[in-house]
This record gives sequence, structure tokens and C-alpha cells, in this order.
Amino acid sequence: MKSFRKELWFNTGERMELINITPDVESALRESGIREGLCLVNAMHITASVFINDDESGLHADYQDWLEQLAPHAPVSRYRHNRTGEDNGDAHLKRQIMGREAVVAVTEGRLDFGPWERIFYGEFDGRRRKRVLVKIIGE
Ligand code: ZN
Repeated sequence: MKSFRKELWFNTGERMELINITPDVESALRESGIREGLCLVNAMHITASVFINDDESGLHADYQDWLEQLAPHAPVSRYRHNRTGEDNGDAHLKRQIMGREAVVAVTEGRLDFGPWERIFYGEFDGRRRKRVLVKIIGE
């Protein structure tokens, strides 16, 4: 069995951003040379997500509005977590609901997606360097 590991780095301009990372994961898969197996993609930070859904700008705006309604960033005093001196209480909650990771089957050297599925990095406390792990196992 082969095993391949790669980190993708991000430093978003905004506090919250949703980024299509499918091309990066496809490029990691090509680099791995693995044809049959599993591909795990996970955020390495507890204020960011990796999730699979549609690459449609209206949906992404809906996600951002919905997350901001569920867990507004301000006032930061509403979160007990922020008593630690941080201001990212909302980002921890947003990460939880959007998930930590995605796993995609690898078949004949390609990500075996359903119709319209794409992989996204969800950043909820950006403007600093953060990482996503890609781990691919198989043969
Ligand atoms: Zn925090």
C-alpha cells in the first residue's frame, strides 16, 4: 500500500472565506500516483472546515449568511470563549457545523465524486497562515 501526505497553506484576506480546493486535491492525487484508495482532506485548525458541496456562488453567500445568523461574530462579548482574550468564539462554532474533513474515494486515479461535488476550505478566522492536510492511501 502506498501512502502520500501533503499540506495546503492558506492566508485569506477576509475573516470568513469559502475556497474551492478541488484543483489542489486533484494535483496532490496526481503527485501521489495512487490509482485506487481513499483521500482524506482535513482542516488542521479548529476554526476552519473542509466540506463537500456545490461550487455555486449563491449557495456560498447563503452559507455565509446562515453561519453569521447562527453564530454572529459580533459582539465578541457574547461568547464565553472570548474571555480567554480571543475573539474567535464564533469561528469555533462555525467550524463545528461545517465539519472538519472530507473523505473521497479514489477510483482509476480520479476523485470519485457524485454529480456537482467539489471540495471546499471554509475559513472562519482568517487573515493568518493556516493549513489543510491531504492524506491519500491506496495503490
Ligand atoms: Zn479560539
